[in-house]
Amino acid sequence: RQRSDPILQLEKINVTFDGFRALTDLSLEIGVGELRCVIGPNGAGKTTLMDVISGKTRPDSGRVIYDQTTDLTTLSTVEIARIGIGRKFQKPTVFEALTVFENLEIALKSEKSVWACLRARLSGVQRDRIDEVLELLRLGELRKRPAGLLSHGQKQFLEIGMLLVQEPHLLLLDEPAAGMTDAETAWSAELFRQLAGKHSLMVVEHDMGFVETIADHVTVLHQGQVLAQGSLRKVQENEQVIEVYLGR
Ligand code: ADP
Repeated sequence: RQRSDPILQLEKINVTFDGFRALTDLSLEIGVGELRCVIGPNGAGKTTLMDVISGKTRPDSGRVIYDQTTDLTTLSTVEIARIGIGRKFQKPTVFEALTVFENLEIALKSEKSVWACLRARLSGVQRDRIDEVLELLRLGELRKRPAGLLSHGQKQFLEIGMLLVQEPHLLLLDEPAAGMTDAETAWSAELFRQLAGKHSLMVVEHDMGFVETIADHVTVLHQGQVLAQGSLRKVQENEQVIEVYLGR
C-alpha cells in the first residue's frame, strides 16, 4: 500500500430510518496512514457513518470500498473486522473479571468462546505481540490487574489495545477521549499521532481542543452530508461551518 492510496472510499451512501434521511449521497475518502477527524453537531450522522463502515447498518444505496478492492456493504460485521477494520465504541467494553493481559489474549485469539480462548495455547509470536501492545499503551505494569479495577481512561486504552493486537489497517474510534483526564487526553493524542502512518484512523470527536491536537484533516458532517473538509484551520474559517456547527 502507498500512502497516497485510499484505504476507504465511501461512494454516494444513502441511509434512511423510517423515511428519515440520516445520510444523503455521502462520499468520503480516507487515505492509507491518515488520521481523520469527523466532527459535526448532534444528529449529523457521525455514528451512522461508523455503523455503515463497520457493517452494523446497511446503506439503502452506495458503496464502501476498502483497500480499493472490497465492497464492505456485502460483508457481515465479523467479516469486516477480520479484514482489518477495528471499531471502538464510546463506552469501553472490557472483560472486567479478567486481567489486562487476558483481555488482550482474548482479543488476539479467535476461538468461539472466552473460555476456549483462555485454554488455547498462546504462541511465542502472539505473546510478543501482546507485550508490544502493553508497552505501547503503557499498560505493562497493569498486566496482571483485573480490568474491572482500572480507571475509565485505562479501560479506554486497554480497549484500543484489544483492537491493536489484531493488527487492524483501519481504526474507527468513537470519542476516544471522552471521560479521560487531561493527562490521559494528551497522551491519547500523542498515541493516535504515533499510530497514524502504520494504521489509518477515523476518529469521531466532539472536543475541538482534542481535534486541534491530533488531526491533519477534518471532515464536518451536517444533516447527513459533508459540509466542509480540509485542514482544521480551513474548516474553522468556513462560513457555513461557523453558522451551523460553532453557532457563532
Ligand atoms: P451523530 O452521531 O452525528 O449524533 P447519528 O448518526 O447518531 O448522529 O444520527 C443521525 C440521525 O439519524 C439523527 O437524527 C438520529 O436521530 C437518526 N437515527 C440514527 N439512528 C437511528 C435509528 N436506528 N432509527 C431512527 N433514527 C435514527
